This record gives sequence, C-alpha cells and structure tokens, in this order.
Amino acid sequence: MEEPATSMLRSVNDPLRPGVNSSGERVLSIEGLRVEFRLPDESTEVLCGVDLTARPGEIVGVVGESGSGKTVAALAVVGLLPSAAHVSGGSVRFFNENLLDLDSRQMRAIRGSRISMIFQNPRASLNPVFTVGRMLREVLLVHSGLRGRKATVRAQELLADVGLPDPSAVMRRYPHQLSGGMAQRAMIALALSSSPDLLLADEPTTALDVTIQHQIIQLLLRLRKRQNLTQIVITHNFGVVAELCDRVAVMYAGAILEEAPVGRIFEAPGHPYTRGLLSARARVEQSSGIRSIPGQVPELKNRPTGCSFHPRCEHARDICRVSTPRLESSAPNHSIACHRWRELAQ
Ligand code: SF4
Repeated sequence: MEEPATSMLRSVNDPLRPGVNSSGERVLSIEGLRVEFRLPDESTEVLCGVDLTARPGEIVGVVGESGSGKTVAALAVVGLLPSAAHVSGGSVRFFNENLLDLDSRQMRAIRGSRISMIFQNPRASLNPVFTVGRMLREVLLVHSGLRGRKATVRAQELLADVGLPDPSAVMRRYPHQLSGGMAQRAMIALALSSSPDLLLADEPTTALDVTIQHQIIQLLLRLRKRQNLTQIVITHNFGVVAELCDRVAVMYAGAILEEAPVGRIFEAPGHPYTRGLLSARARVEQSSGIRSIPGQVPELKNRPTGCSFHPRCEHARDICRVSTPRLESSAPNHSIACHRWRELAQ
C-alpha cells in the first residue's frame, strides 16, 4: 500500500478519532519494557525501555524498519518470546494485570481469548493439515465451549463477518487452497473467534496486492467501529498507518523515537528518523527516485553509543554520540527522543 491516503488523516489538533475512549482507561500499557537475547557467549538487549499504550477502541501503529524490535515487543505482550529471550525490566499491563507476572498457564488463558495476534504470512501461520472449518471449530470449542452444529454456524458467521463469500465452502478448504487475501481473512476470523479485547496485527497487509491490502484495512476499521476492538498494528508502511491508525510510535534499534497522533506525525514529524522515513516514502510517490535513509539499522549487539540513530543522522553533534536521548514531550500527545528536536523544529 503506497497510496498517500492523506484524506484519511486527522488534523494536527485532533488527536483521536471519534469513538476512541479518551478517558484515562488503558487496554494496554507497556512501561519501560526491556528484553535481552541471552546466548551462551553473549547477551544482546533488543528492547531497551519501550513505552506504549492503547486506549479502548484505539488503533496504534508501530512503524520502523526491519530489526527495529516491533515484532519482539508484540511477542512479549502475548508471551511468545523465543526461549533465548528474557524480559529484564518493565511491565506489560493488560487492563490492570501485569502480564509479566502470569505463569504460562495463566498466559495461555488470556492469549487467544482476550488478546489475539495475527502474523505475517497468514498461509504459513495456519495449520496446513487442517481445514479452515476444523481450525475454527477447535478454537470455538476451547474458548467458547461451542461444539457440533452451534460451532459450525458460529464459524460460518465469523467467515462471513470477515468478508469471505460462501463460508461453508471455505470451511472445507485447506490453507494451501486459499489465496493470500482469503488466508488473511481466515486468520482474522480465527483471531476474532474468542471476541478479544485486543488484537495485535503483525504486518497484516504485507505480501498482499494493493486491492486486497485496502480490503483488509477496511475490515480492520470495521472491526473497530462494530466491536470497539483495540488494535496494535505493526508495519513498515506509512500508507497503512495513514489509512488505519489513530496514533503511531516510530521504533528504531529497540526503542521508540517518536510517538504522536497520526495527523501530527505526517504534518509535523519531529525526529530526524521519522522525517527520513516519510521523505523516502514521498520520493516513491513522486517517482523522483528512491533514496532511503543512508546507512542501515545497526546490529543490536553493536548498538551505537548515545543516540542509536547518530551514525545515520545528518544533524548529529558530539552530545548525540555520548548521551542517549529520552522521550520527552514536544507538544500535547507528541513525544520525541532527540537532543536537537527544538532546534530542528525551527
Ligand atoms: Fe540526530 Fe542527535 Fe537527534 Fe539522534 S539525538 S536524531 S543523532 S540530532
């Protein structure tokens, strides 16, 4: 999805879409989350103090290049970190419960029922030896106690809800018999089968053609409108962010560098990395030649000192090489982690 979708943007002064609960209530509240990958001979910090919140009915985008830690953060929420990963600090609150305090049995009871996740490459995430119907009926039995005819009817309803025509025929198909768009819809139907409060979507439109991407985005927006479903959407695509999200957090090298309502990010990006991502995207749209941000996301085991973005930043000064900038408020609902955001804003 590389269409601008600027007509979908809220104004700078409109931090939330209508319908999003603006009270202090949080569905998800991640504070200071630190994750290390520990191998026998080395330890690498892959998340270094991530803060992220989502209110009821809000769709929050997490954007950044590959290797920025977006997926690790999501896996930490659902308790599916790989065995080498250790949470070394922070909290992950789901309503009032710190998920990091739960044992694996308690976490299993929440995952897939109150919190669901859809993954990149849905065809590979669906069980290849089960039909769609069998997968849905099993999930409905585990989470809702439905079986037999009631489970079949509910499964067909879910498939119809996500826009799959002829649900009874889809129920009989195996994942390899589905197109990419159908597999993604089936995956979303599975994720919704337990009526979750929170949906984590990891690159939900990647590898789909533009028309199907647009349909999936419309489906996710419908789910929010109809069920007030809170969503965290991980993507590298600002087009998806523009069309789908209320607020966006920009991640780089295991940290959030900027966070703001979507309209604000597009109209007044404050961090040089965000500006670089947006200007690379604008060049693609104008067909004026793709020039990505110079350099690459650092290997996390060789994270630069100070600001992790400094080797790629044209505005870097001595302080940037020695001191790590912290997220600070630059405007209402807008935070930036950059030593020079004030000067650069002028
Ligand atoms: Fe660039 Fe320095 Fe800001 Fe980092 S802190 S983004 S190096 S100006």
